[in-house]
Amino acid sequence: MIDNYLTLRRHNIEVRYIEGDEASAEETFIVLKEALVFLSKYFCIRDLFPPIRAILVLNRSEYDHIVINLLGVDIEIPSNPARIAQPQKTDIVFLSPSAYKDHSIYEYNLDEYRRLVFHELTHVFEEYLTPDIETTPRWWSEGLAACLAGQWRYEDEFRQPVLKGIKEKRIPDIEIIRASTQLCYEWGWTIVMFIERTYGTEIILRIVKECNNGNVLGIISADLKNFEKRWKKWLLESWENSANFA
Ligand SMILES: [Zn+2]
Repeated sequence: MIDNYLTLRRHNIEVRYIEGDEASAEETFIVLKEALVFLSKYFCIRDLFPPIRAILVLNRSEYDHIVINLLGVDIEIPSNPARIAQPQKTDIVFLSPSAYKDHSIYEYNLDEYRRLVFHELTHVFEEYLTPDIETTPRWWSEGLAACLAGQWRYEDEFRQPVLKGIKEKRIPDIEIIRASTQLCYEWGWTIVMFIERTYGTEIILRIVKECNNGNVLGIISADLKNFEKRWKKWLLESWENSANFA
């Protein structure tokens, strides 16, 4: 399926790309390598992480074809132009930065691409470490990836709805967030960050490694209603003391 793709392989990272797209392949390799070092340390991986493969595709129909047929992930066709990356096990399909202009809603920006790669690789690490990725709640996975990638800090997509909600004192309940894909992306990171700041970084690793039934709060022995109250209070105080969100 990707026989006609060229290969850039160094260490345990492989980037497959189409001839002429060398610059994007090189950039992707560099960012993956950085993210791999960071995440290996963060998740306390002592051995070498299994080989990672990134596939850079140059147009929307190729993206759909590879995601569906190589990764085996079911997506709509043609896929939404907001889709630019899809992880599955140790593979990640990326719409190549050189194809953003014609095949996505985004304009290419190196810093944003770097955060995107971090985000997707976080999913790869989570899937590798967790006992059952199928039961992992979306708010947790997306929240963790947005936190570690730093998207919460820089990207309007993740940050603005939260700042607006806090300002207007309209913070959705966790059950409402859980039921909405969009809210998982927008608010998930605030719950992960609250857990990290309240219980420490080591709890993040424990949740990833031990949560096998989707009950994240069970790992920290927290009751939903009480947890939710404390999380909302923390959010409102964070707004007043904006240093928390800087
Ligand atoms: Zn994600």
